[in-house]
Parts: sequence; C-alpha cells; structure tokens
Amino acid sequence: MNDWEVTEIARFLQLLSTFPRILNGVDKPIWLLHNKGVFTVKSFYWKKNNNQSTTGFWPWKQIWKVTSPLKVSCFVWLTIRRACLTHEVLQGKRMQICSRCFMCDQDAESNFHLFLHCKTATKLWDMFLNILGVSWVMPKSTMELLNCWKGISSRGSKENWWMTIPACIWWTLWKERNTRCFEGKSSNIQKIQSQSLSLLYFWCKQELGDIVALVDFIGNL
Ligand SMILES: [Zn+2]
Repeated sequence: MNDWEVTEIARFLQLLSTFPRILNGVDKPIWLLHNKGVFTVKSFYWKKNNNQSTTGFWPWKQIWKVTSPLKVSCFVWLTIRRACLTHEVLQGKRMQICSRCFMCDQDAESNFHLFLHCKTATKLWDMFLNILGVSWVMPKSTMELLNCWKGISSRGSKENWWMTIPACIWWTLWKERNTRCFEGKSSNIQKIQSQSLSLLYFWCKQELGDIVALVDFIGNL
C-alpha cells in the first residue's frame, strides 16, 4: 500500500468517525447541521450564509405580515425578486419584444420602471405620500423601497395596515397594466388612484373595524 492510499484510507476512516454511532434501532440518515439530526430549510440556509441570519435584509414582514390577500403577498414577493413577467423579464427569456411601458408609452418596461419610476406609478406614490405628509425620495429598487418603507411606518396602531400601501400600489399598477396589455382598455389616472384607495380600504376594513366610510378612512391615513 503506497502513501497516497494510506492517506485516503485515513481520511475515509476519519470521515466515518464523524457520523454518530447507532447502538440500537435501525440505520437512518442524520442531518448534521441540526442538533436533532433532522433536515430543516432554516439550518441549511443558516450554514449556507455562514451562520448569519438571512432575513436581516429581506423585508419579509412587509410581504407576509400585511393585510393584503395571500395572492397579493405572493405577487409582492415576485415583484421584489424582479420576477413579474414584464418585458424586461420576457426579454431575459430570449423573447423578441420591442419593449414599451403600457402605462406611459415612453420608456421600456422594466420592473423598477413600472412599479417605481413610471409617471403613473409616481402619481400613485405621490397621492399616498401627500395624504401621509411624508417627504420621500424614490429608491432605485423595489427591495430598497420595502426596506425604507418599514423605517417610516411608525404610526402607532395603524402601522400594520400602513405597511400595506406598497402592495396596494403595485397590485393596482399590475392589474391596470394587464388590462391595457391584454384587453386594450385603459383607465385615466384619477380612476386608477380611486381604485387604489378603494382597494386599500377593503383590505384594511376588517382590521380597522370602526371606520366604515372611505372618506373617514382617507382622513385617518
Ligand atoms: Zn412607464
């Protein structure tokens, strides 16, 4: 037996020694990254991220802990991952498209443009920010927006539904975009704004309880 073979066998024996010894019972696989030996996604990500939290920068509360329907939360998750099927994404899948934004007819349609910087999106954001009396510089990405939104949402008991506003704006824009794209119909900006306000009201109505009129709701924003 040469030196290389001895070394390899030694490594193999060392590897075997790292497995827990089973004295009784049947043999079974053990996940070494968990103290109970069972596989969990959390333990995998923890190890993959060098034992640091993976949720520190990920705005999961603004996605999953808001009052919008689950399908909208899933949509928001897609939005901040830039996975909505805008022209930008379709071109990335090698589809031949001459990109134009359905909302402004001026720029190419990307996720960030459609949901943040398009003039239609800007009017929706401005409407809510004016009602709230908040000065705001639009971030570059949807992920940054949600992280920033968390920082200015200290509005007491209303905080939870206040965090629903980004989801409301993005859902309104996406619905309008698809209506223009697939049905050839469009609403003017006033109607889009009122649709967005109504949507937020109906999503938050149960939580607010005592506020029954849309006018009161807006007044309490
Ligand atoms: Zn646009």
